[in-house]
Amino acid sequence: MIALRLAAKGHLEGATLVARLVTQKRDDRASFLERDYQLTSQVEGWAHFSRDEHTIALKGKAEDLDGDVIMLPPNASSAHRLIRANSRHNSLLITEQCDQLCVMCSQPPKAKHSDMFATFMLACILAPQNAVIGITGGEPMLFKGQLFALLMQVHAERPDLTFHVLTNGQHFEPKDIELLRSPAFNNVLWAIPVYSPEPKNHDRIVGKVGAFEQLLTTFELLSHTSAQIEIRTVVMRSNQAYLAALADFLTTYIPFASQWSIMQMERIGYARMNWGKEFFDTSTDFAPVARALCIANGRGFDARLFNFPLCTVPSAYQKYAVASISDWKCKFENFCEGCGLRNQCGGFFEWYDVETGFEAIRNHEKA
Ligand code: SF4
Repeated sequence: MIALRLAAKGHLEGATLVARLVTQKRDDRASFLERDYQLTSQVEGWAHFSRDEHTIALKGKAEDLDGDVIMLPPNASSAHRLIRANSRHNSLLITEQCDQLCVMCSQPPKAKHSDMFATFMLACILAPQNAVIGITGGEPMLFKGQLFALLMQVHAERPDLTFHVLTNGQHFEPKDIELLRSPAFNNVLWAIPVYSPEPKNHDRIVGKVGAFEQLLTTFELLSHTSAQIEIRTVVMRSNQAYLAALADFLTTYIPFASQWSIMQMERIGYARMNWGKEFFDTSTDFAPVARALCIANGRGFDARLFNFPLCTVPSAYQKYAVASISDWKCKFENFCEGCGLRNQCGGFFEWYDVETGFEAIRNHEKA
C-alpha cells in the first residue's frame, strides 16, 4: 500500500508547515510562494529537505517525493502527503462529520471536526499543473460556505485545477444557484449518490428519512446551473432489484448528468460490518447490472462500472469497467500474475477478502 503518511523529523516549533518538496530548484508559480523545500541529502532511507536554515527529514526516497505537498505540524513524528505529484488519486478530507448513515459507508462519520481549509487552500495552490483534486468526507457540504470559498479562491489563482466533490446532495439551496453559475464552478464535478428510484429504499440505505425527496429538489436546482454531475450507485443486495428502474429514472429525470458510476462495495467501515447482508455478488449474477447498463447506455447515458475486477464481469460488459480504485489502496491477488487483462484491470481494494468476495473467482487462487 502506498503511504499517505511519512515518518518525519526536524520541524520542532512554530506553525504547521505546508511545503512542496523539490529535488531541484524550480522557477514556477508555486515556488514564488516560498514554500519549496529543496533536497539536500538522502541518508540511510531519510530524505533531507531544506529551506533557508530549516531542515526536515522524511523517511522515503527523494525521487518518489518530488513535487509532493506535505503538511507537518510542529513536533509531529509523521507528515501527511496532502498532494502526491505522481498520482491521479489525490483527495482532501474536508470533514468526518456527516448527516447520513449509509449502510455501506467506507468512512463512518465521527463527531469531531477540525477546520483545515487554510491548509487545503495552500495545498491546492502548490499542486502540480492541471491536477484533479478530490474533495471528500464525511459530508463536505456541511461546511458549504468554506468549501465554496475554497473552490472560488483556488480557481482565481489556479484555473487549471479541477475538482471532484463527493457529496450526499442534501445541502444545495436555491440561493446557491447564482454562485454555481460562476466560472469557478465550471471546473467542479459533483458526485452525488442515488441508490434507488424508490424513496423508502434509498432513504433506508442512507439512514435518513426524506433524503430522496431532497435529492429531487437538488437535481431540479442543479438543472438551472451548468453544474457537471456524476451519479453514484453502490450495488447491494437491498437495491440490486431496482437497478433497471433506477436506470430508467435517471435517464428520464436527470438526463443532464455527465456520468453514472455503478460501483461495487468497498469492504471497510460499515460496508465490512454489513458485508454478509449487503454484498451482492455480481460475479455470479450480473443480470441486474447488465440490464441497467443496457438501458442507460442505450439512452445515451455514460454509465460505467467502478470497483469491478475485470474477471468478474462478462466480456461483453468489460468495456464499461474503469480502473477506479485509488492507487494507494489498490492491490492485485497472486492469481493476477500472468493475467492478460492485468494492464486494463483496476484490481481489488487493499481490504478485499477472497473468502467472502466474488465467488466466481474464489478458486483462481487455488488453481
Ligand atoms: S488482473 Fe486479476 S482481477 Fe484483474 S482480471 Fe486479471 S485475474 Fe482478474
